[in-house]
Amino acid sequence: MRGANRNRVVVIGGGQAGGRLTQILGANPRDFEVTLVCQEPHPPYERPPLTKGVLTGKTTREQCLIWRDEDDAWRNVDLRLGVCADAIDREAKRVQLSDGVKLGYDTLVLAMGSSVRRFSVEGAALKGVHYLRNIDDSLAIARRFEPSKRLVVVGGGFIGLEIAASARAQGIDTTLVEASDRLLARVVPSVVADQLAKRHRSEGVGMRMGAMVERFVSSPGDALCAVELSTGEVLPCDLAVIGVGVKANSELAVSAGLSVDVGVRVDASLRTDDPSIFACGDVATFWHPLFNQYVRVEAWQNAEDHARVVAKVIMGEKAMSDAVPWFWSDQYDLSLQIAGLPILGSSMAMRLMDDGAVILFHLTPSGKIVGATGLGTAESIGRDVRLAQILIAERAHPDPVLLRDPAIGLKSIVKAGKAKKPVVVLGSSVATPDMLRP
Ligand SMILES: Cc1cc2nc3c(=O)[nH]c(=O)nc-3n(C[C@H](O)[C@H](O)[C@H](O)COP(=O)(O)OP(=O)(O)OC[C@H]3O[C@@H](n4cnc5c(N)ncnc54)[C@H](O)[C@@H]3O)c2cc1C
Repeated sequence: MRGANRNRVVVIGGGQAGGRLTQILGANPRDFEVTLVCQEPHPPYERPPLTKGVLTGKTTREQCLIWRDEDDAWRNVDLRLGVCADAIDREAKRVQLSDGVKLGYDTLVLAMGSSVRRFSVEGAALKGVHYLRNIDDSLAIARRFEPSKRLVVVGGGFIGLEIAASARAQGIDTTLVEASDRLLARVVPSVVADQLAKRHRSEGVGMRMGAMVERFVSSPGDALCAVELSTGEVLPCDLAVIGVGVKANSELAVSAGLSVDVGVRVDASLRTDDPSIFACGDVATFWHPLFNQYVRVEAWQNAEDHARVVAKVIMGEKAMSDAVPWFWSDQYDLSLQIAGLPILGSSMAMRLMDDGAVILFHLTPSGKIVGATGLGTAESIGRDVRLAQILIAERAHPDPVLLRDPAIGLKSIVKAGKAKKPVVVLGSSVATPDMLRP
């Protein structure tokens, strides 16, 4: 369906953001000629199940797909699987692909996501040492998840913790090694991290905090047989998974001369300094109007929101990426949820629920709420974290005394507009956050 006036949109990266964007544009074949360039050999799929249901065998590859094969919009998309975008010629408005093809574009969208940080210690390339970013990684690990196996997880971030929880669900002997003296040091306050660590221990995960991996040790057949730590301890194992963070895939943007910091720099409508090029999802560092600063967010919801913003802007509507960030992680029956930017808070108000669930509200010195961190079952914390998102979006200054009281519904705080009155945050009702700044 070629039309002379159709906008030729090339999307690089068929992950959450690129997949969703392509789906939206593909439903408008009169206006858009859409090409999706995917480095992976799979059509776009969701990553959150990769550390959860895929590892426990409850979720299939097909169930992870962002949109089904039978979806009509696919017919309108030129899907290039297993092909990498190697270079962008901004002057000629062309993308060079790894298979030799040159694609012309009117609008280009960079949705290349992020890649795992590789570990350079001895033995990191041994058979049995894995990383987890894509579905093939997850399926390869899942195939080796048998109760008789011993697993070492390197890194106490979200990915490592979810892998440990999925391994324990299958009775696998699991030890987690974390260089810092606590879990999730850069992202959640210690009260939450400690509660999470306690739960992992009670589920049987061996925790080695403040320990570094010295080397991965091989058996005579060149397969992994142990992990040696900086403490001198040697952990015998059959399998190791490394989860020590990710970095934005921004090399393509750097070589195209676009503005790049920890990600590809874009404005609030996700446009780069080249008006024909957008960036979205994990790869984008975007201007957030609510927080008045650039942020980069590695989260499913952010990729979804970005796809919709870019789609609207390309369709000629006004749109800004001003949603309150939201991230969740599932471990056992616990849900950890983070809304807003807790890092911007200087104090916290803590709400403890009867069932042991906890929500921390992060406040600035003027009492403005900028973030919320919840740990508990999804039923206990989900609603309040969502309501906290509303307060954050409203730039509210809720009374910390009310925030702390689990008998006072957060909805009533939102409704009553009490939130609008600035309060001075003083006294023992607030705690000092011990989060590290990035
Ligand atoms: C295992 C795992 C579990 C997660 N769980 C959660 C969770 O529970 N909650 C949550 O909020 N978030 C979670 N996330 C984060 C969330 O999935 C990501 O933030 C989201 O996938 C980002 O979407 P994206 O489209 O920006 O990037 P991605 O989904 O990473 O997709 C980018 C794609 O671009 C491709 N690509 C890169 N370079 C090129 C190139 N030059 N040419 C062509 N293609 C290219 C990549 O191969 C990749 O397929 C998880 C992530 C992982 C990896």
